[in-house]
Amino acid sequence: LPALATCSRQLSGYVPRRFHHCAPRGGRRLLLSRVFQPQNLREDQVRSLQDKFGDLTCKSQRLMLQVGLIYPASPGCYHLLPYTVRAMEKLVRVIDQEMQAIGGQKVNMPSLSPAELWQATNRWDLMGKELLRLRDRHGKEYCLGPTHEEAITALIAAQKKLSYKQLPFLLYQVTRKFRDEPRPRFGLLRGREFYMKDMYTFDSSPEAAQQTYNLVCDAYCSLFSRLGLRFVKVQADVGSIGGTMSHEFQLPVDIGEDRLAICPHCSFSANMETLDLSQMNCPACQGPLTETKGIEVGHTFYLGTKYSSIFNAQFTNVYGKPSLAEMGCYGLGVTRILAAAIEVLSTEDCVRWPSLLAPYQACLIPPKKGSKEEAASELIGQLCDHITEAVPQLHGEVLLDDRTHLTIGNRLKDANKFGYPFVIIAGKRALEDPAHFEVWCQNTGEVVFLTKDGVMDLL
Ligand code: ATP
Ligand code: MG
Ligand code: MG
Ligand code: MG
Repeated sequence: LPALATCSRQLSGYVPRRFHHCAPRGGRRLLLSRVFQPQNLREDQVRSLQDKFGDLTCKSQRLMLQVGLIYPASPGCYHLLPYTVRAMEKLVRVIDQEMQAIGGQKVNMPSLSPAELWQATNRWDLMGKELLRLRDRHGKEYCLGPTHEEAITALIAAQKKLSYKQLPFLLYQVTRKFRDEPRPRFGLLRGREFYMKDMYTFDSSPEAAQQTYNLVCDAYCSLFSRLGLRFVKVQADVGSIGGTMSHEFQLPVDIGEDRLAICPHCSFSANMETLDLSQMNCPACQGPLTETKGIEVGHTFYLGTKYSSIFNAQFTNVYGKPSLAEMGCYGLGVTRILAAAIEVLSTEDCVRWPSLLAPYQACLIPPKKGSKEEAASELIGQLCDHITEAVPQLHGEVLLDDRTHLTIGNRLKDANKFGYPFVIIAGKRALEDPAHFEVWCQNTGEVVFLTKDGVMDLL
């Protein structure tokens, strides 16, 4: 009987009160004091964490450690803490929208990848020490997937009855990738274990594959524009992945590890790796090139039949004959984008997010316990309930900073550090009739006093 009762409570959506922080619906409040966040680390604590893991540092890494977005686990590996996971889930949703708008279908391939696949393309040797290798109990060799061209091409090759009528296939996944980087550094910017979105496309002709390539590049442009990140698309080297054409999506910023040559007069831009070192004139218009540094956040490759010919990934063409698939592959550094966005948008002391990715959209600050304004506490609590009930998009997006033993000033300082797009305070003017709340719009720097209706309009 007790088991049945538990079961029926679960089915009816009952959530025990002690779990109210993560309650799925209803007017229950999300309380900041319940968020797991080793926050407010002092400078020296952050430094000792960095020293322990021998990590080179940068602004985003320092801030992410300071406000408890990440915590080091081992060199190049980080625990992603609740705010970061929320931001990453939002980023993945935007990526899904962009990939599915061009016909992308989501898959999920194993990280454990058998050595034979990599031996077939010779990358078992070519990738050298970057490949993290292991053996199972039977002595069979594997690596932990750093990318999945081999696996996906073998999967397509195993489908014996593909017709040109079914193509193109645009298959993608968002999974952990493993690379034994010689020097993991800069926090999530260069990890040994990180999240990547990788898409692989299969077309029936080079022309169709070129169209698909352009389509994916346009989707990447749309993604970075929606995130409000200034980016450049540059010609790039194909590296160990191979193929005949390649572009990188780069965020221009000083700590970037890539050197980019950009022509201020025409649309030419390239990773310096692709030029002859001394070539500082634009190959397109001969004007002088300017140099800037960038963080590589995305990379696209036109592969042709490099992989499909090795694994025999074929389809039946319009003449009923077998024909090799024309391929492309397209990576986005998911965790790298999060850190790179923080790097370019934040001040030295305060995290700033692309609005679409902010872990919570608003933080509400009630008065200090025992203060003259304490009577306004319930007003802001009601505002919190009202917002989440009236604006479905903000459901689960509004945090109440219930640490009322702290002054409003101290909690506002924290809120500013965390970068909620809106911070709403019940101060003196909350006792007026009608009550006015102080609203800090973090992304514009504006501070306004608004009634409950005004707050609703703003949000
Ligand atoms: P890099 O030149 O920075 O080493 P890469 O060219 O080796 O990157 P790709 O193989 O093109 O990387 O992988 C696709 C994307 O995955 C990259 O554009 C980048 O955003 C991301 N990425 C690659 N390596 C890492 C890493 N060590 N940590 C986090 N993200 C990474
Ligand atoms: Mg690399
Ligand atoms: Mg690179
Ligand atoms: Mg690359």
